[in-house]
Amino acid sequence: MVADQIARRGIRDPRLLAAMRELPRHEFLPEKDWPHAYEDRPIPIGEGQTISQPYIVAAMTAALECRPDDHLLDVGTGSGYQAALLARLVRSVVSIERRPALAARARATLGRLGCLNVTVLEGDGSDGVPAFSPYDGVLVAAGAPRVPADLTAQLAHGGRMVVPVGTSELQHLMVLRRTGERVTEETREGCVFVPLVGRQGWGVEHPAPK
Ligand code: SAM
Repeated sequence: MVADQIARRGIRDPRLLAAMRELPRHEFLPEKDWPHAYEDRPIPIGEGQTISQPYIVAAMTAALECRPDDHLLDVGTGSGYQAALLARLVRSVVSIERRPALAARARATLGRLGCLNVTVLEGDGSDGVPAFSPYDGVLVAAGAPRVPADLTAQLAHGGRMVVPVGTSELQHLMVLRRTGERVTEETREGCVFVPLVGRQGWGVEHPAPK
């Protein structure tokens, strides 16, 4: 997977490539899906959600330019795979998921794999998690209609954010960087994510399931 799908497409960061080689992606999927775990595509994880395509996980992680002492926010825990990958590259990760069943499963998987530096919370991550801010990096793993203002506000000086922004059919990865009060934005490749539901996403008209 790493050689064919990630390195061949231009991701070069050796720490990231090593972490992806070591992290057992199949552990984040039900056993029936293990034969497909390393394929070049997103895979359903239940509740209408997906574990993202390995390449897009790598591209977003590379764009965050993780440093070993960073403290990160991961919005949209899903299976927990992205959070576990980030956790291998930085000091600590706060990951938030609006669907309680997915959050519970991800918490169990991360515990089983010994990822002690990830805290999984339940709630609307489009508002961020101010209590644990500021963040050196914020990664949003769901498509937003615009960059959520509260997430930008929770970036530390020098902080980076990666968020897919666009319509529900097509988004582009936006990479933001905060320097003091100044925030620069860069638009990168196209992608297709499930929607970021919530107050600063596509709205709260579909409440989170109990
Ligand atoms: N990063 C995940 C992984 O490694 O498996 C994949 C994320 S999946 C593409 C997007 C996730 O975002 C879904 O689990 C969905 O329930 C969640 N989500 C959508 N809107 C959210 C919100 N406002 N707050 C938190 N999670 C949200």
